[in-house]
Amino acid sequence: TAGPLATVPDPGDRLLGGLLAPEFDENSCVSRYRAALYRRPSVHAISSHLVSALRRYESRHRRCGPGTPAYARAVERLRAAPNASAAPSSSAAGCSYLVWNPIEGLGNRILTITSGFLYALLTDRVLLLHSSGGALDDLFCEPFPGSTWILEEDEKFPILGMGHLTAGHHESLRSVLRRGEDPSAAPWLYVHLRHDYSKVHQDQQFFCDDVQAQLRRVPWLVVQSDNYFVPGLFLIPGLERELARMFPRRDLVFHHLGRYLFHPSNTVWGMVTRYHDEYFAKADERVGIQVRKFRWAPISTDELYGQILNCSQREGILPVHGAAATGGFNDGQPAKQKAVLVVSLHDEYSEKLRDLYPKNGSAGREAVSVYQPTHLGAQRSGEQQHNQKALAEMVLLSFSDAVVTTAVSTFGYVGQGLAGLRPWVLMTPVDGKAPDTPCRHAATMEPCFHAPPTYDCRARANGDVGRIVRHIRHCEDFPQGVQLV
Ligand code: GDP
Repeated sequence: TAGPLATVPDPGDRLLGGLLAPEFDENSCVSRYRAALYRRPSVHAISSHLVSALRRYESRHRRCGPGTPAYARAVERLRAAPNASAAPSSSAAGCSYLVWNPIEGLGNRILTITSGFLYALLTDRVLLLHSSGGALDDLFCEPFPGSTWILEEDEKFPILGMGHLTAGHHESLRSVLRRGEDPSAAPWLYVHLRHDYSKVHQDQQFFCDDVQAQLRRVPWLVVQSDNYFVPGLFLIPGLERELARMFPRRDLVFHHLGRYLFHPSNTVWGMVTRYHDEYFAKADERVGIQVRKFRWAPISTDELYGQILNCSQREGILPVHGAAATGGFNDGQPAKQKAVLVVSLHDEYSEKLRDLYPKNGSAGREAVSVYQPTHLGAQRSGEQQHNQKALAEMVLLSFSDAVVTTAVSTFGYVGQGLAGLRPWVLMTPVDGKAPDTPCRHAATMEPCFHAPPTYDCRARANGDVGRIVRHIRHCEDFPQGVQLV
């Protein structure tokens, strides 16, 4: 049964209906209480159950996080327990942890942090981020009051080389299950949830009730994932009831948790507001178009441009050019200023759109202006400024009134989820050509879990997890994946 719904937050509500904690200093993180003023107000209610779970999590993080005596004790126990036989029981420590590691691009990272956080919320753990090589420096504000979510420096932490653990590591869940050992005796375990786990039951058994019960007793879990594994948590029967109470609407998980967790640092927020004031502030309507090219789905620039235009004009997102000739303005002024923000590594698409909708020109009753903040050419996820710009653009995308995204892109998922919008999705090219239906209005604003388990715990055999639970379906933009609807 679903918990009672708190009221839908009104736009003047700086805590977003109880989603955000009130006790932060505003200047240390300007975006936290201000970002919502730039977005369309969320019409999506937050359950009072989620609100109280978040407050409970915050007090746990404050009690167990880095710098606390409980944390120091937990680390000491880990250091003193090199093998399973010496393992202390986690209940003695009272605090248990999930350590996240950065892999892949920022969109993937945001989605895996969210997945890890929901897991921590559900299993009474504390989420800590391994900011390997400064991967998270000056990117996000701290989300939990009075504490940090960043793990201490590498040298001080007893588990070495955490970013390079492999599925076959001696201390991995896979290895422990293969050896027939009881995972609950381990002082720490590595959980491999990368997309390449697809053929390996022992990794996928993470999503099974019996293994979850054993993992409850392991004080430290280390995870590497490149996937939004939230839908996988909804497959675990033991978590079902709590999830239903937290999220009476399952399709709002990332929308709520993303706005709770990811507040751009003041540096990034500076970029966001600069771009916003320049491009978006004066517009009546804001359209975001996110264009991503994947090596596994090649398409020429002209073909992709055609797809973008075809989609946007067909769906009424951009005016059909030439309408000016027939539409005209009674008073010589267009009725509506439409700002189109293109975010992409490449500049060709915004350039072509700008040629089509020249500055000071207009189409029918709309004046269209096209902008693109950066075109960085290639992905360089190891560089701080590069990631800061990427985050700034995801956040800007989330200020749109309508979004067009590229199928399968986690960058797009983050923008649409923070916005709380179902996007128009540019479908993946087939044999280098845009598909006949250039884009589809997504059924859900939730990200797709691209590599769901193929192992059905209840049947103890391979199965189709897109058909087990009512609110988990195969993704429209990536049919082998599953998502919450
Ligand atoms: P995905 O690969 O589309 O799923 O998204 P990710 O965010 O995981 O990885 C792509 C990375 O490439 C981003 O994090 C950025 O570093 C970079 N990138 C891709 N598209 C853009 C864009 O439109 N703007 C900026 N600034 N960076 C981008």
